[in-house]
Amino acid sequence: MITESMIRGIGMTSQRTRERLITRLSDKGITNKQVLSVMLNTPRHLFVDEALASRAYEDDALPIGQGQTISQPYIVARMTELLLAGGIPGKVLEIGTGCGYQTAVLSQLVPEVYSVERIEVLLHQARKRLRSLKIKNVRFKHSDGSWGWDNNAPYDGIIVTAAPSTIPEALLKQLAVGGKLVIPVGRQDRAQELTVIHRTNTGYEQEVIEAVTFVPLINGDL
Ligand code: SAH
Repeated sequence: MITESMIRGIGMTSQRTRERLITRLSDKGITNKQVLSVMLNTPRHLFVDEALASRAYEDDALPIGQGQTISQPYIVARMTELLLAGGIPGKVLEIGTGCGYQTAVLSQLVPEVYSVERIEVLLHQARKRLRSLKIKNVRFKHSDGSWGWDNNAPYDGIIVTAAPSTIPEALLKQLAVGGKLVIPVGRQDRAQELTVIHRTNTGYEQEVIEAVTFVPLINGDL
C-alpha cells in the first residue's frame, strides 16, 4: 500500500499533475476505477532518471537505459485492466520487469506477483525501488522470460511487456485453466498486436485488442 504520507515524503509531483494523467487515461477509455486509483498514487517519477522526472506524468514512454523504456501509462493501464477483467487473478507472472513500474502497479491490485527480467542491472534497480515503496508481495528472477517461471506455475494471469514474434510455448503451458495471458505479439518492423489468450478447459482462445509498439522480447539473459 502506498499511503498519502509516503507520497508526501518522496516529494511526489503535485496532486493536480497526477490527476491530469488519470483524466487523460479515462478519456482514452480506461474504466477500471481500481487501476486508475492505483496509478494516481504510484510515483512514476521514481521509476525514471531524475533528468526525466518532470515528464513522468505525461502519457509517454521514456528511456530507462540499456536500450529499454518505461511503458506509456495508457498501455500499463490497458494491460492491467485486461488482466483484471472478470476477477482478480491470485497469482500473476510478469515478463519484462524493466524499471518495475508495471510491477508496482500490479502488486497493489493482486495478491502475488512474480517478475522476470533478462537485464540484471534493471532488475536490481527495480527491486530496490519496490523495496523503498514497501512493496512486499513481489518475487524477482533474473532470466530469459520466454521460459516463464516454472516453479510457481500455474499462474492465473501472465503479462508480457516486450513483444515476441510468436507466443512462447512455456507461457501457454504455465497459464492456469481459466487464466489469461496479455501479450503484445509481432515483429519490430511490422505492426504488433496486443493480444489476450484465454485458457479454457479445452484449449486456448485468442482475442486481438489493438495495435501497439513494444521493445522486442530477446532470448538469453545479460
Ligand atoms: N514493464 C516495464 C516495461 C519494460 S520494457 C514498465 O513498467 O515500464 C521491456 C523489458 O523487457 C525490458 O526491460 C527488457 O530488458 C525486458 N525483456 C526483453 N526480453 C526479455 C526476456 N526474454 N526475458 C525477460 N525480460 C525481457
